[in-house]
Amino acid sequence: MSDLLSVTPSGLYCEAGGFYIDPWRPVERAVVTHAHSDHARPGSKRYLCSSACAPFVRLRCGEESAISCLEFGERRTINGVTLSLHPAGHILGSAQVRVEHQGEVWVVTGDYKTEPDPTVEPFELVRCHTLITECTFGLPVYRWPEALAEFERINAWWAANQSAGRTSVLMGYSLGKAQRLLAGVDAGLGPIFAHGAVLGPTQAYRDQGIRLPPVRPVSEAPLDVDWPRALVVAPPGAEATPWMRRFRESATAFASGWMAVRGIKRRRGVERGFVISDHVDWPALMEVVAATGASRVLTTHGYSAVVAKHLSERGLDSSPLETQFRGEAEEEGA
Ligand SMILES: [Zn+2]
Ligand SMILES: [Zn+2]
Repeated sequence: MSDLLSVTPSGLYCEAGGFYIDPWRPVERAVVTHAHSDHARPGSKRYLCSSACAPFVRLRCGEESAISCLEFGERRTINGVTLSLHPAGHILGSAQVRVEHQGEVWVVTGDYKTEPDPTVEPFELVRCHTLITECTFGLPVYRWPEALAEFERINAWWAANQSAGRTSVLMGYSLGKAQRLLAGVDAGLGPIFAHGAVLGPTQAYRDQGIRLPPVRPVSEAPLDVDWPRALVVAPPGAEATPWMRRFRESATAFASGWMAVRGIKRRRGVERGFVISDHVDWPALMEVVAATGASRVLTTHGYSAVVAKHLSERGLDSSPLETQFRGEAEEEGA
């Protein structure tokens, strides 16, 4: 019997159901785990995603996109294949895809994390026979500190910059990470401003009832604004642009799982790194793989060969899923 899901030139495909999951090329029917650019691509005829994810797919793929929605846990049968979406805890609305056909269950995790995060639906463990897991941080060196402690360090950094008369510019991906940062910082310290790229997703989070502190657009700041008191949330890369000049003296920091490794921080050219990730670290990845009960594990996104080798040595049937090459820098929301 052929596999329920297999890789084709357009992406991961369910032949029995006639749909793709996070396809790379435009297809007839795309099931989308979440709206980061390496998962949701414009041009497909029809999209299926979680209701909470739909506003972000519209932002990414265009207002006119044909999107149908599933609530988490709701089942839909397509050509005899039963499909459902389950919270992945990565960003708001992010889903794992459960596919069942003739008693065989596959789960595609998309990007996921198990850590508590007030801006997303909590990760749901879904048991399955075959698991396709992301491995963005699939090396033993990646172990996240407690997020609350990391947010304390961010607040302390902001306060120290205020004393030193420097504007605090905190960088994180505009969809997901920026909102998690906004929810986690101490808004009592001073005013919060955001780069234009952060505003749309932030409003979409608010529209869905996620509580975030007041945020003003940098572009609408009054001329006499006291920048050194402010925290500015911006997407990565902003630090290398003329946009930064308005802040005069600034301190830059990047919030990402990549900041757990010293050399990467140096390469990004930021002064401070905070280890806040929306992906599982190594221990969480291993826990989830074991808890799903899957006997077969296909690995993708990131350190797929390392993870597959490790799982094989522990007796699982594991191999990397051959996918289109993606460099680590392309991974959004990390
Ligand atoms: Zn993502
Ligand atoms: Zn991703």
